[in-house]
Amino acid sequence: MSNEQLEQLRKRLDEINDQILELLSERGSIAQEIGKVKAKSGIHRFDPVRERKMLDEIAQKNKGPFDTSTVQHIFKEIFKASLELQHDDNHRELLVSRKNQANDTVVDVKGTKIGGDEQVLIAGPCSVESYEQVKAVADNHQRQGLKLLRGGAFKPRTSPYDFQGLGIEGLKILQQIAKENDLAVISEIVSPNDIELATEYVDVIQIGARNMQNFELLKAAGSVDHPVLLKRGMSATIQEFMFAAEYIVSRGNRKVILCERGIRTYEKATRNTLDISAVPILKQETHLPVLVDVTHSTGRRDLLLPTAKAALAVGADGVMVEVHPDPAVALSDANQQMDIAQFNAFLDQLRESGLIKTKVEV
Ligand code: PEP
Ligand code: MN
Repeated sequence: MSNEQLEQLRKRLDEINDQILELLSERGSIAQEIGKVKAKSGIHRFDPVRERKMLDEIAQKNKGPFDTSTVQHIFKEIFKASLELQHDDNHRELLVSRKNQANDTVVDVKGTKIGGDEQVLIAGPCSVESYEQVKAVADNHQRQGLKLLRGGAFKPRTSPYDFQGLGIEGLKILQQIAKENDLAVISEIVSPNDIELATEYVDVIQIGARNMQNFELLKAAGSVDHPVLLKRGMSATIQEFMFAAEYIVSRGNRKVILCERGIRTYEKATRNTLDISAVPILKQETHLPVLVDVTHSTGRRDLLLPTAKAALAVGADGVMVEVHPDPAVALSDANQQMDIAQFNAFLDQLRESGLIKTKVEV
């Protein structure tokens, strides 16, 4: 074969590549259109009967030189890519997605804006243990000009023999102290049946890591008009986290705050591994406020300040930490909570770094 002949054949192949590409693009656009029609009418995207029919027709029409299984394999890849195109289309339309809403969602919690220009600090004991215990933290909040107090009343504990929380009694303590000290309170709810009731006692309903995929709880939280702080599951991908938030928003409650709290990895130096890059990713991908819980992600007092600084520097809308008047006798997470003096020093250092802008009342 002369060089000239080879060149001609190669030129012909280039032309065919162009034609295949053009046809592939056209096929892709049609598949996207079909995806939209299916999404509107609630029909499942994947249709195995139709796919089988197309593969049978391809087998019948195949004249070689490729054998039928090879041609079918190539077409199956095209079908798969078309299905993924439809998936991307739906993903783009998630209500929590930036593509759906360009401007940031700002959640107003009793006058404090979460997701706005200022970064916030949520602090308080792991568990509500008594009026006096929470009151000591709340009084310090008031002196420090802080507005957001956390405290667990329903505790999802790994062991059934560990302190399970004071339940409604704990919510009542939070409510009373919120009134006395003019604070907003945040507490975890673990049962869908308690969501409605919780709106009467707390300003923000927390859904914890262990319940991030408790879909009935998410649906219940979506059906009230109340701020929800959703924590990332300990083994959840960012996409799963976004879908969990979508469960709440798609039911009509747009007041959702995301909270990165570390994920489980092989690393043992910290309680969990703080996925710091999740913060800018979530800020890019969603319009929701993003907080970082440095206490549960590190499980180490010595790492609270550097990780809080990192979280705020990377664009988090705020930080959550645990503080207890006497951590040594705390009924949960005794090893990781700061006492009040340590917490005040932590706060001073954060303010010195210019990252947190909470005003101090003198
Ligand atoms: C908590 O914030 O009290 C808590 C239990 O955290 P997580 O759900 O992130 O483990
Ligand atoms: Mn805790």
